[in-house]
Amino acid sequence: MFYHNPKSISEALKLLDSYKDEDLVVLAGGTDVVPKINTRPEKSGYFDGELMDLDNKRVVYLGDAGLAYIKDEGDKLVIGSMTTMTELLECEAIDKVPVLKEALSQLAGLTVRNIATIGGNIMNASPAADSVPALIVSDAKAVLASEAGERTVELYQLFAGPGETCAAKNEILKEIIVPVKPGKASFIKFGRRNGESLSVVNGAAYAEFDGAVCKNAVVALGAVAPTPLRAEAVEAAVNGKELTDDVLAEAAEIAAGLTDAIDDKRGSGEYRTKLVKVLVKRALKNCQ
Ligand SMILES: Cc1cc2nc3c(=O)[nH]c(=O)nc-3n(C[C@H](O)[C@H](O)[C@H](O)COP(=O)(O)OP(=O)(O)OC[C@H]3O[C@@H](n4cnc5c(N)ncnc54)[C@H](O)[C@@H]3O)c2cc1C
Repeated sequence: MFYHNPKSISEALKLLDSYKDEDLVVLAGGTDVVPKINTRPEKSGYFDGELMDLDNKRVVYLGDAGLAYIKDEGDKLVIGSMTTMTELLECEAIDKVPVLKEALSQLAGLTVRNIATIGGNIMNASPAADSVPALIVSDAKAVLASEAGERTVELYQLFAGPGETCAAKNEILKEIIVPVKPGKASFIKFGRRNGESLSVVNGAAYAEFDGAVCKNAVVALGAVAPTPLRAEAVEAAVNGKELTDDVLAEAAEIAAGLTDAIDDKRGSGEYRTKLVKVLVKRALKNCQ
């Protein structure tokens, strides 16, 4: 294994570019990466994927590259990818995006949140990542950086499959831009227990209201498809309408139809689909 500890983003990008044809591992807090290296799957209730062999891998640690920051720019927060969950939860600016606070406070336990980064949660590309639905309904954007420059991607379009994003091998997630929106949002997580539990299903909704009429709704679901899902058909079903029981019931059915939930040790696909219906109704109601 070769280990690099760049002291700036430009040094990090240069390294990634020089070694882009090698077996590279970007390392942030390591709370997803390290269990992949040293977990004994037969003993683990957490990690059950393929173990990572570090032989011949080139590890680029981003912890000292100056990417841990939270900038409050008034109408938006700009969050460096290496910012930890605890740093975010403890900063005043997070109160401008309460749905993100709601999601992060339910992510893992304190010890993990102290080292787990927001960038790691996103780039791990787990369909169950808890920060992601909250960020999607906030219209968050991911800024990807490489030696060639930067590009900005709508967060909901970043994901390509379980563990996969549209980022190239020589690109890193530099920061996340989170607009401050005027409406209300809600994040809901169904785990197997409260605390230290990965989501069986998670999701979030955002809405504004003109009197009783819902507008600008955004709905995102997690752990029910190969990637986090923006449920645009659900948004279309509620925008321009009062959120009556009938409208919510229809929205829930549409959401269930969008999912492609799998059976695993955390729950069956059928159970997840049922949870999605409850989640969509509850989260939209919470926005009122
Ligand atoms: C006990 C335990 C409980 C957990 N509970 C939860 C939970 O409840 N909810 C949840 O969502 N997650 C949970 N996790 C998963 C994990 O803690 C989070 O996903 C965490 O945010 C990952 O961040 P990290 O900094 O540790 O990332 P790392 O493990 O360092 O990296 C994760 C992935 O992202 C890539 N990466 C990291 N940063 C960048 C970057 N800037 N640019 C490009 N690629 C990058 C890495 O190469 C790697 O593929 C849990 C983990 C543990 C061990």
